[in-house]
Amino acid sequence: MMSDIQPILDRALSGERLTADDCRALLESNDIARMGVAADEVRKRKHPSGVVTYIIDRNINYTNVCNVVCTFCAFYRRPGKPDTYVRTVEEICEKIDETIALGGTGVLMQGGLHPDFGIEWYEDLLRTLHARYPNFQLHSFSPPEIHNIHLISKLSYEEILSRLKDAGMSSLPGGGAEILDDEVRKRVSTKCTTDEWLAVMRAAHRAGLRSTATMMFGIGDRVEHRVRHLERIRDLQDETGGFTAFIPWTFQRENTALGRRITEEPTGIDYLKVLAVSRVFLDNVEHFQSSWLTQGLRLGQVALRFGADDMGSIMIEENVVSAAGAHNEADEKTLRYLIREAGFRPQQRDILYNHVSREEATAKDASDSASLRELTVAFAD
Ligand code: SF4
Repeated sequence: MMSDIQPILDRALSGERLTADDCRALLESNDIARMGVAADEVRKRKHPSGVVTYIIDRNINYTNVCNVVCTFCAFYRRPGKPDTYVRTVEEICEKIDETIALGGTGVLMQGGLHPDFGIEWYEDLLRTLHARYPNFQLHSFSPPEIHNIHLISKLSYEEILSRLKDAGMSSLPGGGAEILDDEVRKRVSTKCTTDEWLAVMRAAHRAGLRSTATMMFGIGDRVEHRVRHLERIRDLQDETGGFTAFIPWTFQRENTALGRRITEEPTGIDYLKVLAVSRVFLDNVEHFQSSWLTQGLRLGQVALRFGADDMGSIMIEENVVSAAGAHNEADEKTLRYLIREAGFRPQQRDILYNHVSREEATAKDASDSASLRELTVAFAD
């Protein structure tokens, strides 16, 4: 029997742009095998060389002080609480030195919304780091942080982003999107609205900065909210072309106020479905990242056959989703092994998806038996 969704997938594969109703029908179906085949085909057409990329970088959270409340967050601390921190420049430089020693090309730097940090604090930090590491990419400050600077320094997004770019910022992480629909956002967070998130990204792209786009689902959202999120990303991408990649993942509930309230959480099927449908619906986004950090290494590998063409970061350090229960870890050798075993050629990239050549990386492929021994330990979860 012909699946209900096959005609929709066939239309997408013939080059037709899917509508919101199509997207909704796909997300309401559980026929993920067909969605996976279509998403894999779209991935193959966009990336016919059979390469799957990964990045060596590190998350640096310069502060955990945060002025707003997100009920899905286990990372933030209210100003004045005892276990707050602000990293010094020297601490940040030590982390960058460790990243460079491992072959890293950049950092993803973001933090809480500090009530006292105006534009000058961020400019000073970027200028200092850029002067010390001129070729190292500073992928920094997601839209809620830019919006926070706007509230403190009373500057437009355009001015903030052009000043931060001049100070050495390379690109923006697409965090803080969660679900781009205020019906959901307002229930779980007091941070920037959907329109503000999109306006920051529009201003960033206009300033010549690229960014990623993310989606964290399972925070009380329904199918229609996910559809609206994807439509908003696709519309903005039509307008600016500034998104390099789309990265969906599921809410991690441990130690969060929301996690204690929510009774249903997204499953592996939900994750693969959202990834595959995003790949088919977002026809104007090149790269899709597997979120092995939240889904585990095995499902993260399977994601490469559900539309993802990128394995993300080796995550030398991650503090935000790990605070909420995601404890998966992988080194470069493990990611390369998983990519090869899924039938692709592993390739290191930088934050802007340019390929990076390092002899040590390919040398890590040499001993499969050693990889297998170590992976047995890594997978004992
Ligand atoms: S998610 Fe970000 S903005 Fe929200 S509480 Fe956590 S650190 Fe603050």
